[in-house]
Amino acid sequence: MTATPTVKGWCPGAHRPMMSGDGLIVRVRPHMSRFDRTQALTLCHLSQTYGNGIIDLTSRANLQLRGVRAAGHPDLLEALMAAGLLDATPAQEARRNILTTPQWGQDDLTAWLYKVLLASLATLPDLPAKMGIALDTGAQPLLAKASADFRFERGQEVGLILRADGADTGVAVTEDTAPEMLRALALWFVDTGGARAGRMARHLATQDLPTRFQGARPRAPGAMLQPGVHAIGAVYGVPFGAIDAAALAHLISEGAGTGLRLTPWRLFVLEGAAPQRVEAFVCDPGDATLRVHACPGLPKCSQGQAETRALALSLSGKMPTGQTLHVSGCAKGCAHPGSADLTLVGADGYFDLVRNGTAWDAPSVRGLSRDDIAKEIAR
Ligand code: SF4
Repeated sequence: MTATPTVKGWCPGAHRPMMSGDGLIVRVRPHMSRFDRTQALTLCHLSQTYGNGIIDLTSRANLQLRGVRAAGHPDLLEALMAAGLLDATPAQEARRNILTTPQWGQDDLTAWLYKVLLASLATLPDLPAKMGIALDTGAQPLLAKASADFRFERGQEVGLILRADGADTGVAVTEDTAPEMLRALALWFVDTGGARAGRMARHLATQDLPTRFQGARPRAPGAMLQPGVHAIGAVYGVPFGAIDAAALAHLISEGAGTGLRLTPWRLFVLEGAAPQRVEAFVCDPGDATLRVHACPGLPKCSQGQAETRALALSLSGKMPTGQTLHVSGCAKGCAHPGSADLTLVGADGYFDLVRNGTAWDAPSVRGLSRDDIAKEIAR
């Protein structure tokens, strides 16, 4: 019988790791979605010392060390603290859920807003643990599809807006009024029972957003980053978001990069570096692997119902051009919260197939073997 996946109402952190099939998952949240060169090298070293040498790049642009042994967790925390990679308390860590556009510069609007919002986080009411803020304040929004509930963006008619996720428009703010407006929107969410929905967009599906939080349109989305050369550095893709810590350490050590900027799209930017060809990472724009999502699945995840990544790799070249594939170890769909052209969901060692939907949608076919899957794709 297929087990129903456990949906945990919290996100793992460094202070509060989550147990998985391959050990503890210790998530480290960078400031401004960036680690400096020394911090990035330290994380690679710690992954190999205390974990299994694999670092996940998450859909919220965090890094998580996998396979950490429980006995080593206290020493790992000490090492993270010494490297400036740990918040003072679990509560601070949980609140600092800010996803930042990779397109920011020293002392620009995004950098300034980050400092101001960071200082004001303690004034926000208690919010569901999965809620977060997107600082999408580069020249054009890039993060509109990334997970966030409160979105700061550049406006079409005004310089800066705050938009509730799920609403088409937001409210105009200035650099000075941004924290107070964020607090007002968060208070409205809490006061109107948003905690029951858990996320802003779900709350707005049943609750009208007051007009005082609407009216200002965001700019049109910008072009997505692709592997290769970019103004801020060399962009690399990470197959399935699983970084080989040794390969990353080697890449950073060899180049002249000053830091590592993380994105929610399984891409990272080696800031200020020229691109090199590296086998462990995706170096070509349009590489089919970037259209394939797969969670760790069995045996790494204790909720997994099937092995995922070897199957995903074997299918990546077989998908029709431009189509997306999601191979999920269970119906929780951790690797890709959105819709995919084809989603395969592990069920007792076999797979259920969902077309144009998510891992938790009703499948059109159940109980597929690997051979069956190849035939379904060819249809
Ligand atoms: S979707 Fe994958 S990673 Fe998430 S709980 Fe299921 S098996 Fe585990």
